[in-house]
Amino acid sequence: MIVIMSSHADEEQIQGVMARLESKGLKGHRSGGEERTVIGVIGTRFEPQLGEQLEMLPGVERVTPVSKPYKLASREFKPFDSIVRVGDLEIGGREIVVMAGPCSVESREQVLETAEAVKAAGATVLRGGAFKPRSSPYSFQGMGEEGLRILAEVRELTGLKVVSEVMEPDQVGPVAEHCDILQIGTRSMQNFPLLREVGKTDKPVLLKRGMAATIEEWLMAAEYIMASGNFNVILCERGIRTFETAVRNTLDLSAVPVVKRLSHLPVIVDPSHGTGKWYLVKPMAMAAIAAGADGLLVEVHPSPDTAASDGPQSLNLPNFAELMQSLRAVGSAVGRTVPGGISVGAAVA
Ligand code: PEP
Ligand code: MN
Repeated sequence: MIVIMSSHADEEQIQGVMARLESKGLKGHRSGGEERTVIGVIGTRFEPQLGEQLEMLPGVERVTPVSKPYKLASREFKPFDSIVRVGDLEIGGREIVVMAGPCSVESREQVLETAEAVKAAGATVLRGGAFKPRSSPYSFQGMGEEGLRILAEVRELTGLKVVSEVMEPDQVGPVAEHCDILQIGTRSMQNFPLLREVGKTDKPVLLKRGMAATIEEWLMAAEYIMASGNFNVILCERGIRTFETAVRNTLDLSAVPVVKRLSHLPVIVDPSHGTGKWYLVKPMAMAAIAAGADGLLVEVHPSPDTAASDGPQSLNLPNFAELMQSLRAVGSAVGRTVPGGISVGAAVA
């Protein structure tokens, strides 16, 4: 349930509600806009009269139940957009966050060269898989912990934040130690022990949509992480399975405004896995920003034709720089900024 404070409720009245929740063994999650404060109630046992009792407290306007099966992830629970902070970086604010890098970590040189190029073009997060979920057991499975060490070293050298996939609960510790954001891949979206494990950390989690998951199932997966205590969830649309064979997946861009309506969590889009073809990445990335995405996850490789995985959907370094330039124009059309380069607004001024 949520407690909506009246627009003139003062701090003492807000604290009164928080204290009452605590006395009932519940927790209040406070969020506020300019107008009013809203308190989401977290807990498993609600006494039947709780809502009525809270409504009698001074400064409370009304108490309403959350109607959706996901509670903490819902916009009813928290009407205001969430910003996930990764150090000094904000995901879900005005600035578009671009996460870029190779599908797989292959060598120190490959990661460093890519990181320097994507940083120069305006990316703020480096991506790279050390543990790879491959459809075939005979395909390259990733460099494992050595790959994590490469990512951590390149993070030190470039100042970029790092995101990398975690496939098993046992990998959460090592990935959290070397990286800034834990990625849950499409194949793991309903791996509930894994979701609970990342939920026990305070690291931001990039939760990809399952390739056959409805938006409600995706938000329920986010709920698992949040119910375990970690509210730092970033959703990532990466395409779903349909009858269409011209593309690797069907990138569901309508999911962006749908999720923005249903949830307060930031949403980013992965046009690389979403299309499977490098020449479709730029148009779909631009469309994603126009549709309201808070950022992008883009596969970039210095020589895509030699990549150990996902070469056909990886941009080379010049094409990535060109993409960033195009994003600036779209960003300024929808009131967002893209770091690096000269913004269109600045050029005009
Ligand atoms: C990846 O990001 O390289 C990856 C494996 O993504 P997905 O889980 O979306 O297939
Ligand atoms: Mn990939």
